[in-house]
Amino acid sequence: MQETSLTGQCAVCSASSARRCSKCRKVSYCSEEHQNIDWKSHKNHCHPPSGTIVNVSAILFPANETQPRLVSVKCTVEREIDDDDDTVIYHADFEPFLGKTSIGRQLITNIGYDGVELEHPISCYIRDNFLNDGSPLNQSIVKLMNGRAPHKWSGNVLAMKQVDLYSGKLLKASMSDLPTIAEYFKWYPKEISPEDMNEEITRLFGKNAKGVKVVTL
Ligand SMILES: [Zn+2]
Ligand SMILES: [Zn+2]
Repeated sequence: MQETSLTGQCAVCSASSARRCSKCRKVSYCSEEHQNIDWKSHKNHCHPPSGTIVNVSAILFPANETQPRLVSVKCTVEREIDDDDDTVIYHADFEPFLGKTSIGRQLITNIGYDGVELEHPISCYIRDNFLNDGSPLNQSIVKLMNGRAPHKWSGNVLAMKQVDLYSGKLLKASMSDLPTIAEYFKWYPKEISPEDMNEEITRLFGKNAKGVKVVTL
């Protein structure tokens, strides 16, 4: 991570510094110590150049095995820099895990149905047509949930972590994310009663939304 280059100002203490983050080459540090201190927050903004291939760990729920496990997903970085804006998208190669198919995504933003908001949302990638394409019922999810997941998750499911809802950057997932994902499998998809739906509409749009007719599909 360390590399000597042009002199800049340390992002932690502002001392003049010759060390730069070698991944993005955007920030400087006076010492390894200060670089390490800053890494916890800098890692969310440290973007490698376009075309870089990065391996990001994800949790695979294999359809034909009984245990979820960590896998490494190859992602191609696409970075766009204009003026002040530095955006990045990680294009993950799903094919080794989900096959050649259109990919669907289920986004987990909270712990449980309406619990604490996650600092880093988790996306579950699936075969878009898993209910109709002959994908076998996912045994690792059946086992994890003791057969009590309301959704018939079928085929492999791949869970990846993102920096936030708006960032295309992916972060390393670890097995400590498993309970959060299990909480999601516990409630999804939730049947919402018309009464709850009306309450939700009133909460979102105020009392004058009362006349809104809820159509349940
Ligand atoms: Zn410093
Ligand atoms: Zn960096």
